[in-house]
Amino acid sequence: MSGRAHEAGALHQDMGHRGPEWLRAPADVNALLPALWSRSVAREDDGELAVAGHRVGALAAQFGTPLFVLDVADFKARCRDFVTAFAGADVFYAGKAFLSKAVVRWVAECGLHLDVCTGGELAVALAADFPPERLGLHGNNKSVAELGRALDVGVGRIVVDSFDEIDRLTALARERGVRPRVLVRTTCGVEAHTHEFIATAHEDQKFGLSLSGGAALAAALRIIDDGVLDLVGLHSHIGSQIFDTAGFEVAARRILGLAAQVRDARGVDLPELDLGGGFGIAYTSQDDPASPKELADRMRAIVADECRARALPEPRLSIEPGRALIGPAMLTLYEVGTVKDVDGIRTYVSVDGGMSDNIRTALYGATYSATLASRRSAAGPLLARIVGKHCESGDIVVSDEFLPSDVRPGDLVAVPGTGAYGRSMASNYNHVPRAAVVAVEGDEARVIVRRETEDDLLRLDVG
Ligand SMILES: *Cc1c(COP(=O)(O)O)cnc(C)c1O
Repeated sequence: MSGRAHEAGALHQDMGHRGPEWLRAPADVNALLPALWSRSVAREDDGELAVAGHRVGALAAQFGTPLFVLDVADFKARCRDFVTAFAGADVFYAGKAFLSKAVVRWVAECGLHLDVCTGGELAVALAADFPPERLGLHGNNKSVAELGRALDVGVGRIVVDSFDEIDRLTALARERGVRPRVLVRTTCGVEAHTHEFIATAHEDQKFGLSLSGGAALAAALRIIDDGVLDLVGLHSHIGSQIFDTAGFEVAARRILGLAAQVRDARGVDLPELDLGGGFGIAYTSQDDPASPKELADRMRAIVADECRARALPEPRLSIEPGRALIGPAMLTLYEVGTVKDVDGIRTYVSVDGGMSDNIRTALYGATYSATLASRRSAAGPLLARIVGKHCESGDIVVSDEFLPSDVRPGDLVAVPGTGAYGRSMASNYNHVPRAAVVAVEGDEARVIVRRETEDDLLRLDVG
């Protein structure tokens, strides 16, 4: 088995199936690149991976696989690092990345605010007693029920996204005799994905109100003139997995230009500015994220410069990281089921989850890394593709990664950086029960989201 797998590895080289250009066979296939893993991940002396001292074999035996393992100390440290770096600004955790009652409590404890974008996310926040005045409500199609509930519980701010919503919210606020704080979500023609951003004039997407087309200004003026909603600021979110702050710079320049237009038209200085989230994390050796301190320094400088240039008072800044807080704090543990060499072209390592616990690879070609977690291996590196158990050939977890060539059924494989948009986008495709999330901290390993069972699946099926 190991010999054949090794041959297949050699064939990869001969036939040019080397994976992406940047991927190199590691000198030691057991080595862990610290940037990819939560802070308390390490190999024990015998080579087994552990999170905060909890061995993956024991976690898998107790809780089953696939399993999300959340390193609580790591998550809290990332939250506190952002709060410290952005002192004087508000840090909203973008709950859509991963939300559970335990996460809500940690976010509150670390002094963050919390963004939700549906009634369901709002319900989780309220179930964990999150202070409503520290909640933000997002979404491009909030229902009357969602907006009404947000007003009734007293959320701190609502980011409005359309004229229909402004009308809807104005009516609801009038009915209730309340004056909710709102920001106008603008699209400023900046789109950022990983290492690149583009700044265009047109803004063809569903989110926000166009800056270049004048809709954002019209919305701000309508809110001010109606006098029912309390317009506190402008909002922009330019994308995700961003490494280059130049995108934020262009966005801030354009959005503060709009703030100046509002001031010129109505004599109103908007006291807040939200520059959104999207800060990148390391999924592979190619990603080199900036520290929260670097981000904060850069963003503050951009806003200060731009305000000075336009003679605007500096607004209170807010940001909305999701991925950067929870992404690196979790890994997914899978058990290998089959190892298949396909005509010497590629080795497919099938694991017991897949697109039901991580849709990102199939959805937008996301890249991930992986390591053999249950043991150390002396075998050489084998270029593998880690795939799931679903009925789709695009059901890929990790497109290209070097695993030891003796990888075999029963091994555990760990994929780092799966905390954001893994469990939160999970599905029941093929009636696979959704995976559990276990939080490890000190001596404790505790289920915070339990694994679904067949009973759970059948409970919804009322015949
Ligand atoms: C998704 C989203 C975020 C968070 O994005 P990350 O890439 O997880 O940091 C922040 N703000 C808004 C408006 C979003 O839609």
